[in-house]
Amino acid sequence: MKIKVLNPEVVMKIAAGEVVSGPSSVVKELVENSLDAQADNITVEILDGGKSLIKVDDNGIGMAENELELSILPHTTSKIFSIEDLYQLKTFGFRGEALSSISRVSRMKMTSKPSESEVGTMLEILGGKIIEKKRVNSSNGTKIEIMDLFFNIPARRKFLKSDSAEGRYVTEIIEKFAFTNNINLTYIRENKEIYKFSSDMDLITKCLKIYPELKKDDLIEIEHNDSVYKISGVISQPKVGRNNRTAQHFFVNNRYIKAASLYSVLEKGYGEMLEKSIHPYGIIFIEISPDMVDVNVHPQKLEVKFTDEQKIASLLKKVVREALKKNTHFTMEFISS
Ligand code: ADP
Ligand code: MG
Repeated sequence: MKIKVLNPEVVMKIAAGEVVSGPSSVVKELVENSLDAQADNITVEILDGGKSLIKVDDNGIGMAENELELSILPHTTSKIFSIEDLYQLKTFGFRGEALSSISRVSRMKMTSKPSESEVGTMLEILGGKIIEKKRVNSSNGTKIEIMDLFFNIPARRKFLKSDSAEGRYVTEIIEKFAFTNNINLTYIRENKEIYKFSSDMDLITKCLKIYPELKKDDLIEIEHNDSVYKISGVISQPKVGRNNRTAQHFFVNNRYIKAASLYSVLEKGYGEMLEKSIHPYGIIFIEISPDMVDVNVHPQKLEVKFTDEQKIASLLKKVVREALKKNTHFTMEFISS
Protein backbone atom coordinates (compact mmCIF):
# COMPACT_ATOMS: atom_id res chain seq x y z
CA MET A 1 0.00 0.00 0.00
CA LYS A 2 1.17 3.49 -0.80
CA ILE A 3 -0.71 5.90 1.41
CA LYS A 4 -0.74 9.51 0.33
CA VAL A 5 -2.33 12.63 1.71
CA LEU A 6 -4.96 13.89 -0.69
CA ASN A 7 -4.41 17.22 -2.30
CA PRO A 8 -6.73 19.80 -0.60
CA GLU A 9 -8.35 20.60 -3.93
CA VAL A 10 -9.47 16.97 -4.24
CA VAL A 11 -10.63 16.87 -0.62
CA MET A 12 -12.75 19.98 -1.22
CA LYS A 13 -14.33 18.55 -4.34
CA ILE A 14 -15.16 15.27 -2.61
CA ALA A 15 -16.74 17.12 0.31
CA ALA A 16 -18.68 19.38 -2.05
CA GLY A 17 -20.02 16.35 -3.88
CA GLU A 18 -21.51 15.05 -0.66
CA VAL A 19 -23.65 18.14 -0.16
CA VAL A 20 -24.40 18.91 -3.79
CA SER A 21 -25.83 15.99 -5.69
CA GLY A 22 -27.47 18.03 -8.44
CA PRO A 23 -29.63 21.07 -9.16
CA SER A 24 -32.43 20.01 -6.85
CA SER A 25 -30.12 19.73 -3.84
CA VAL A 26 -28.75 23.22 -4.62
CA VAL A 27 -32.30 24.59 -4.74
CA LYS A 28 -33.11 22.88 -1.46
CA GLU A 29 -30.08 24.37 0.31
CA LEU A 30 -30.63 27.87 -1.07
CA VAL A 31 -34.35 28.00 -0.28
CA GLU A 32 -33.68 26.68 3.23
CA ASN A 33 -31.16 29.48 3.69
CA SER A 34 -33.76 32.00 2.53
CA LEU A 35 -36.28 30.60 5.01
CA ASP A 36 -33.66 30.64 7.78
CA ALA A 37 -33.10 34.30 6.87
CA GLN A 38 -36.82 34.89 7.56
CA ALA A 39 -37.70 35.60 3.98
CA ASP A 40 -41.40 35.45 3.12
CA ASN A 41 -40.97 36.27 -0.51
CA ILE A 42 -38.83 33.87 -2.51
CA THR A 43 -38.41 33.45 -6.25
CA VAL A 44 -36.68 30.42 -7.72
CA GLU A 45 -35.69 30.26 -11.34
CA ILE A 46 -33.93 27.51 -13.30
CA LEU A 47 -32.62 27.07 -16.84
CA ASP A 48 -31.77 23.76 -18.51
CA GLY A 49 -33.03 21.82 -15.52
CA GLY A 50 -30.82 23.97 -13.31
CA LYS A 51 -27.62 22.92 -15.06
CA SER A 52 -27.07 26.36 -16.65
CA LEU A 53 -28.73 28.53 -14.03
CA ILE A 54 -30.29 28.33 -10.59
CA LYS A 55 -31.41 31.64 -9.17
CA VAL A 56 -32.89 32.16 -5.72
CA ASP A 57 -33.96 35.65 -4.77
CA ASP A 58 -35.26 36.44 -1.27
CA ASN A 59 -36.32 39.34 0.92
CA GLY A 60 -34.64 37.99 4.05
CA ILE A 61 -32.28 39.62 6.50
CA GLY A 62 -29.42 39.77 4.00
CA MET A 63 -25.68 39.80 4.61
CA ALA A 64 -23.24 42.67 5.01
CA GLU A 65 -20.09 42.71 2.91
CA ASN A 66 -17.88 40.85 5.42
CA GLU A 67 -20.58 38.26 6.12
CA LEU A 68 -21.02 37.63 2.43
CA GLU A 69 -17.32 36.88 2.08
CA LEU A 70 -17.38 34.61 5.13
CA SER A 71 -20.46 32.72 4.02
CA ILE A 72 -18.63 30.86 1.25
CA LEU A 73 -15.84 29.60 3.50
CA PRO A 74 -16.14 26.05 4.87
CA HIS A 75 -17.80 25.68 8.28
CA THR A 76 -19.09 29.22 8.59
CA THR A 77 -22.55 29.57 10.03
CA SER A 78 -24.58 32.10 11.96
CA LYS A 79 -26.94 29.39 13.20
CA ILE A 80 -25.12 27.48 15.92
CA PHE A 81 -22.23 28.28 18.22
CA SER A 82 -21.88 25.16 20.31
CA ILE A 83 -22.77 21.49 20.04
CA GLU A 84 -25.60 22.00 22.58
CA ASP A 85 -27.31 24.33 20.11
CA LEU A 86 -27.88 21.32 17.89
CA TYR A 87 -30.46 19.97 20.30
CA GLN A 88 -32.70 22.99 20.09
CA LEU A 89 -32.24 23.78 16.47
CA LYS A 90 -34.84 26.07 14.97
CA THR A 91 -33.19 26.48 11.58
CA PHE A 92 -32.73 24.16 8.62
CA GLY A 93 -29.02 24.85 8.36
CA PHE A 94 -26.29 24.51 10.93
CA ARG A 95 -23.32 22.88 9.24
CA GLY A 96 -22.12 25.93 7.37
CA GLU A 97 -21.23 23.86 4.36
CA ALA A 98 -23.78 24.49 1.64
CA LEU A 99 -22.56 27.77 0.24
CA SER A 100 -18.92 26.79 0.41
CA SER A 101 -19.61 23.48 -1.31
CA ILE A 102 -21.84 24.95 -3.99
CA SER A 103 -19.45 27.80 -4.69
CA ARG A 104 -16.59 25.37 -5.26
CA VAL A 105 -18.35 23.43 -7.98
CA SER A 106 -19.96 26.27 -9.94
CA ARG A 107 -19.72 29.86 -11.06
CA MET A 108 -21.63 31.79 -8.46
CA LYS A 109 -22.90 35.33 -8.14
CA MET A 110 -24.21 36.63 -4.84
CA THR A 111 -25.87 39.96 -4.20
CA SER A 112 -27.00 40.86 -0.72
CA LYS A 113 -28.11 43.81 1.34
CA PRO A 114 -29.24 43.88 4.98
CA SER A 115 -31.95 46.44 5.64
CA GLU A 116 -29.62 48.50 7.83
CA SER A 117 -27.14 49.04 4.96
CA GLU A 118 -27.45 51.74 2.35
CA VAL A 119 -25.91 49.70 -0.43
CA GLY A 120 -25.55 46.04 -1.24
CA THR A 121 -22.55 43.93 -2.15
CA MET A 122 -22.08 41.75 -5.17
CA LEU A 123 -19.57 38.90 -5.26
CA GLU A 124 -18.60 36.76 -8.19
CA ILE A 125 -17.01 33.46 -7.34
CA LEU A 126 -15.41 30.96 -9.67
CA GLY A 127 -14.74 27.48 -8.34
CA GLY A 128 -14.72 28.81 -4.77
CA LYS A 129 -12.52 31.86 -5.37
CA ILE A 130 -13.78 35.42 -5.31
CA ILE A 131 -12.99 37.00 -8.69
CA GLU A 132 -14.98 40.19 -8.34
CA LYS A 133 -16.47 42.26 -5.58
CA LYS A 134 -18.39 45.50 -5.89
CA ARG A 135 -20.96 47.68 -4.23
CA VAL A 136 -24.31 47.68 -5.94
CA ASN A 137 -27.74 49.13 -5.53
CA SER A 138 -30.09 46.36 -4.57
CA SER A 139 -33.20 45.75 -2.56
CA ASN A 140 -33.08 44.22 0.92
CA GLY A 141 -32.37 40.51 0.90
CA THR A 142 -30.18 38.08 -0.96
CA LYS A 143 -29.98 36.89 -4.53
CA ILE A 144 -27.82 33.91 -5.38
CA GLU A 145 -27.16 32.70 -8.91
CA ILE A 146 -25.45 29.41 -9.64
CA MET A 147 -24.22 28.98 -13.16
CA ASP A 148 -22.73 25.93 -14.82
CA LEU A 149 -22.98 23.52 -11.94
CA PHE A 150 -20.07 21.05 -11.88
CA PHE A 151 -18.25 22.90 -14.67
CA ASN A 152 -14.98 21.90 -12.97
CA ILE A 153 -15.95 18.28 -12.32
CA PRO A 154 -16.85 17.04 -15.80
CA ALA A 155 -17.17 13.45 -14.61
CA ARG A 156 -19.87 14.60 -12.21
CA ARG A 157 -21.64 16.78 -14.72
CA LYS A 158 -21.90 13.83 -17.05
CA PHE A 159 -23.87 11.93 -14.43
CA LEU A 160 -26.62 14.52 -14.22
CA LYS A 161 -29.87 13.35 -15.76
CA SER A 162 -31.57 15.06 -18.70
CA ASP A 163 -32.62 18.70 -18.33
CA SER A 164 -36.23 17.68 -18.03
CA ALA A 165 -35.53 15.04 -15.36
CA GLU A 166 -33.36 17.37 -13.28
CA GLY A 167 -35.98 20.11 -13.71
CA ARG A 168 -38.67 17.75 -12.49
CA TYR A 169 -36.71 17.04 -9.30
CA VAL A 170 -36.47 20.78 -8.71
CA THR A 171 -40.21 21.12 -9.23
CA GLU A 172 -40.83 18.41 -6.62
CA ILE A 173 -38.64 20.23 -4.10
CA ILE A 174 -40.56 23.47 -4.72
CA GLU A 175 -43.86 21.67 -4.17
CA LYS A 176 -42.66 20.37 -0.80
CA PHE A 177 -41.61 23.86 0.25
CA ALA A 178 -45.02 25.16 -0.81
CA PHE A 179 -46.82 22.55 1.29
CA THR A 180 -44.90 23.41 4.44
CA ASN A 181 -44.52 27.17 4.25
CA ASN A 182 -47.02 29.97 4.05
CA ILE A 183 -44.90 32.33 2.01
CA ASN A 184 -44.97 33.99 -1.38
CA LEU A 185 -43.11 31.49 -3.51
CA THR A 186 -42.67 31.92 -7.25
CA TYR A 187 -41.12 29.28 -9.44
CA ILE A 188 -39.94 29.90 -12.99
CA ARG A 189 -38.73 26.97 -15.07
CA GLU A 190 -37.23 27.51 -18.54
CA ASN A 191 -38.63 31.07 -18.67
CA LYS A 192 -42.13 29.93 -17.80
CA GLU A 193 -43.84 30.73 -14.53
CA ILE A 194 -44.90 27.35 -13.16
CA TYR A 195 -46.12 28.32 -9.69
CA LYS A 196 -46.97 31.43 -7.81
CA PHE A 197 -48.01 30.48 -4.28
CA SER A 198 -49.04 33.24 -1.97
CA SER A 199 -48.78 33.37 1.79
CA ASP A 200 -52.54 33.29 2.33
CA MET A 201 -53.26 30.13 0.28
CA ASP A 202 -54.67 27.20 2.20
CA LEU A 203 -53.50 23.64 1.74
CA ILE A 204 -56.40 22.64 -0.51
CA THR A 205 -55.78 25.57 -2.85
CA LYS A 206 -52.11 24.61 -3.06
CA CYS A 207 -53.04 21.00 -3.83
CA LEU A 208 -55.34 22.10 -6.65
CA LYS A 209 -52.49 24.12 -8.16
CA ILE A 210 -50.01 21.28 -7.90
CA TYR A 211 -52.48 18.62 -9.00
CA PRO A 212 -54.67 20.35 -11.59
CA GLU A 213 -56.39 17.03 -12.30
CA LEU A 214 -58.17 17.33 -8.93
CA LYS A 215 -61.34 19.18 -8.00
CA LYS A 216 -62.05 20.65 -4.61
CA ASP A 217 -64.55 17.89 -3.81
CA ASP A 218 -61.91 15.25 -4.38
CA LEU A 219 -60.11 16.30 -1.22
CA ILE A 220 -60.90 15.77 2.44
CA GLU A 221 -59.24 17.51 5.34
CA ILE A 222 -57.99 15.43 8.23
CA GLU A 223 -57.33 16.64 11.74
CA HIS A 224 -56.39 15.09 15.05
CA ASN A 225 -55.07 16.90 18.03
CA ASP A 226 -54.33 15.59 21.48
CA SER A 227 -51.74 16.74 23.94
CA VAL A 228 -49.05 14.54 22.41
CA TYR A 229 -49.80 14.10 18.71
CA LYS A 230 -51.14 16.36 16.05
CA ILE A 231 -51.99 14.99 12.64
CA SER A 232 -53.40 17.21 9.92
CA GLY A 233 -53.51 17.54 6.18
CA VAL A 234 -55.61 16.46 3.22
CA ILE A 235 -56.35 13.13 1.60
CA SER A 236 -58.34 12.23 -1.48
CA GLN A 237 -61.72 10.59 -1.85
CA PRO A 238 -61.40 6.81 -2.27
CA LYS A 239 -62.22 6.86 -5.97
CA VAL A 240 -59.49 9.37 -6.63
CA GLY A 241 -55.89 8.35 -6.88
CA ARG A 242 -52.87 7.56 -8.95
CA ASN A 243 -51.26 4.33 -10.01
CA ASN A 244 -48.21 5.18 -7.93
CA ARG A 245 -47.46 6.93 -4.66
CA THR A 246 -46.02 10.13 -6.10
CA ALA A 247 -48.78 12.21 -4.53
CA GLN A 248 -48.23 11.01 -0.97
CA HIS A 249 -46.16 13.33 1.18
CA PHE A 250 -45.40 13.07 4.87
CA PHE A 251 -43.92 15.80 7.02
CA VAL A 252 -42.82 15.40 10.61
CA ASN A 253 -42.52 18.66 12.49
CA ASN A 254 -42.56 20.36 9.11
CA ARG A 255 -39.66 18.36 7.70
CA TYR A 256 -40.28 16.18 4.69
CA ILE A 257 -39.66 12.51 5.39
CA LYS A 258 -39.63 9.34 3.34
CA ALA A 259 -41.71 6.98 5.37
CA ALA A 260 -42.41 3.75 3.55
CA SER A 261 -44.30 2.35 6.54
CA LEU A 262 -46.64 5.35 6.75
CA TYR A 263 -47.62 5.09 3.09
CA SER A 264 -49.16 1.71 3.71
CA VAL A 265 -50.79 2.89 6.95
CA LEU A 266 -52.50 5.68 5.01
CA GLU A 267 -53.85 3.15 2.54
CA LYS A 268 -54.94 0.82 5.33
CA GLY A 269 -57.07 3.68 6.57
CA TYR A 270 -59.07 3.43 3.35
CA GLY A 271 -59.42 -0.33 3.74
CA GLU A 272 -61.65 -1.95 1.16
CA MET A 273 -62.86 1.37 -0.16
CA LEU A 274 -59.71 1.84 -2.11
CA GLU A 275 -59.81 0.21 -5.48
CA LYS A 276 -57.02 -2.20 -6.29
CA SER A 277 -53.87 -0.56 -7.61
CA ILE A 278 -55.14 2.94 -6.77
CA HIS A 279 -53.01 5.05 -4.48
CA PRO A 280 -54.66 8.02 -2.81
CA TYR A 281 -53.32 11.54 -2.58
CA GLY A 282 -52.16 12.50 0.88
CA ILE A 283 -50.38 15.55 2.23
CA ILE A 284 -49.94 14.72 5.88
CA PHE A 285 -48.33 16.65 8.68
CA ILE A 286 -47.40 14.94 11.92
CA GLU A 287 -46.39 17.08 14.85
CA ILE A 288 -44.90 15.55 17.95
CA SER A 289 -42.57 16.59 20.67
CA PRO A 290 -39.01 16.61 19.24
CA ASP A 291 -37.84 14.14 21.88
CA MET A 292 -40.24 11.51 20.53
CA VAL A 293 -38.72 11.43 17.11
CA ASP A 294 -35.17 10.89 16.05
CA VAL A 295 -34.64 12.97 12.94
CA ASN A 296 -31.42 11.80 11.47
CA VAL A 297 -29.84 15.10 10.63
CA HIS A 298 -27.60 13.93 7.80
CA PRO A 299 -28.52 16.18 4.83
CA GLN A 300 -29.73 13.47 2.47
CA LYS A 301 -31.18 11.11 5.07
CA LEU A 302 -34.89 11.49 5.11
CA GLU A 303 -35.77 8.67 7.43
CA VAL A 304 -36.98 9.22 10.97
CA LYS A 305 -37.56 6.93 13.92
CA PHE A 306 -40.49 7.42 16.26
CA THR A 307 -40.27 6.28 19.85
CA ASP A 308 -43.78 4.90 19.42
CA GLU A 309 -44.21 3.93 15.80
CA GLN A 310 -47.25 1.74 16.56
CA LYS A 311 -49.13 4.56 18.19
CA ILE A 312 -48.54 6.92 15.25
CA ALA A 313 -49.64 4.21 12.82
CA SER A 314 -52.85 3.43 14.65
CA LEU A 315 -53.68 7.11 15.09
CA LEU A 316 -53.08 7.89 11.44
CA LYS A 317 -55.26 4.99 10.35
CA LYS A 318 -58.04 6.10 12.68
CA VAL A 319 -57.87 9.73 11.58
CA VAL A 320 -58.08 8.72 7.93
CA ARG A 321 -61.03 6.38 8.56
CA GLU A 322 -62.97 8.93 10.51
CA ALA A 323 -62.44 11.61 7.91
CA LEU A 324 -63.61 9.23 5.18
CA LYS A 325 -66.65 8.21 7.22
CA LYS A 326 -67.72 11.80 7.60
CA ASN A 327 -67.07 12.79 4.05
CA THR A 328 -67.93 10.00 1.69
CA HIS A 329 -71.29 8.65 0.66
CA PHE A 330 -70.07 5.06 0.72
CA THR A 331 -71.75 2.46 2.87
CA MET A 332 -69.59 2.17 5.86
CA GLU A 333 -69.51 -1.58 6.40
CA PHE A 334 -66.38 -1.51 4.34
CA ILE A 335 -64.40 0.52 6.74
CA SER A 336 -66.03 -0.24 10.03
CA SER A 337 -63.68 -3.16 10.72
P1 ADP B 1 -25.79 27.02 7.17
O1 ADP B 1 -27.11 27.27 6.54
O2 ADP B 1 -25.63 25.61 7.62
O3 ADP B 1 -25.45 28.01 8.25
P2 ADP B 1 -24.70 27.80 4.59
O4 ADP B 1 -23.40 27.50 3.92
O5 ADP B 1 -25.94 27.34 3.90
O6 ADP B 1 -24.63 27.20 6.06
O7 ADP B 1 -24.78 29.36 4.82
C1 ADP B 1 -23.75 30.00 5.55
C2 ADP B 1 -24.25 31.26 6.23
O8 ADP B 1 -24.52 32.25 5.24
C3 ADP B 1 -25.55 31.09 6.98
O9 ADP B 1 -25.33 30.64 8.31
C4 ADP B 1 -26.12 32.51 6.95
O10 ADP B 1 -25.57 33.30 7.99
C5 ADP B 1 -25.62 33.05 5.63
N1 ADP B 1 -26.64 32.98 4.58
C6 ADP B 1 -26.75 32.03 3.62
N2 ADP B 1 -27.80 32.26 2.81
C7 ADP B 1 -28.40 33.39 3.25
C8 ADP B 1 -29.54 34.15 2.84
N3 ADP B 1 -30.30 33.79 1.78
N4 ADP B 1 -29.83 35.27 3.54
C9 ADP B 1 -29.08 35.65 4.61
N5 ADP B 1 -28.01 34.97 5.05
C10 ADP B 1 -27.65 33.85 4.38
MG1 MG C 1 -27.71 26.47 4.73
